[in-house]
Amino acid sequence: MENFNELQREVLRLKKEKNALVLAHYYVPLEVQDVADAVCDSFAMAQKAAKAENDIIVICGVRFMGESAKLLSPDKTVLLPSPDAGCPMADMVTPEDVLRLRSEHPRAKVMCYVNSSAAVKAVSDVCCTSSSALRIAKNLDCEEIIFVPDKHLGSFVARHVPEKTFWLHPGFCPTHHKISEADVLAAKKAHPDAEFAVHPECGEDVVKYGDLVGSTAEILNFARKTDAPEILIGTESEIVLRLRRELPEKKIYGVGSSFVCPNMKKVTLEALYECLRDEKTKVELPGDVLSAARVSLDRMVNS
Ligand code: SF4
Repeated sequence: MENFNELQREVLRLKKEKNALVLAHYYVPLEVQDVADAVCDSFAMAQKAAKAENDIIVICGVRFMGESAKLLSPDKTVLLPSPDAGCPMADMVTPEDVLRLRSEHPRAKVMCYVNSSAAVKAVSDVCCTSSSALRIAKNLDCEEIIFVPDKHLGSFVARHVPEKTFWLHPGFCPTHHKISEADVLAAKKAHPDAEFAVHPECGEDVVKYGDLVGSTAEILNFARKTDAPEILIGTESEIVLRLRRELPEKKIYGVGSSFVCPNMKKVTLEALYECLRDEKTKVELPGDVLSAARVSLDRMVNS
């Protein structure tokens, strides 16, 4: 415990005292990740929440992640350290948008990126993450797919599943969307020998340069396994910091100057400590939303 600061030690003590499982997303600050029981992307977070046997699950991430944990563990206490940390992309689609798209394309099934509200999941057929989207789209029993809310992930999936027709909602992640082709070309010029691993939430003009296009976990695994001594990372800045610490023998570079999700940075160590101490920031969902949304999320976790 000697490497932990005082607040981190308090968090570890409370965690044990309350039999709480703390799950952190890779984009939250490293000092929060360091006291978590597991650091995961959204898919692994959902799987771990579903299997948890602890009395309390604390989700160090944005609101939809807390909702997903509650959907999969409805009888547990699910806490969010920073309930005001939302995901702007998730907020770009409403249940009414999904119902309108359904009436416009009655033969299509609705695939909903896990970065969405429980209310949107409740009117969707199946959820997916960036790592499971291709497989789920290929296996879905239909010829047309409505994909919400991320137009970039949706078009990436559509390009790889050409046998189906896709109807895309025009949402996007502001953090990944602002990375431009010019940013990538400048980074590649500065580091010509680096391999480029990029997240499919980036636009097509960025993703097309990727040696790997994958989820956060897939980007981390790529960086660990590749023989390349230099790697260019096309996703949130905390991944660059994490890889620099984990792989000191490799040179890890970020693309662009401010690849930061401000919402994930709201999940501070102080917020985690207060959340465990007070247990006030519980995730609650209406019963009808909970049962309907769980169906599409279960299909994802069990697919
Ligand atoms: S990085 Fe983008 S998609 Fe992820 S939580 Fe932040 S705004 Fe949402």
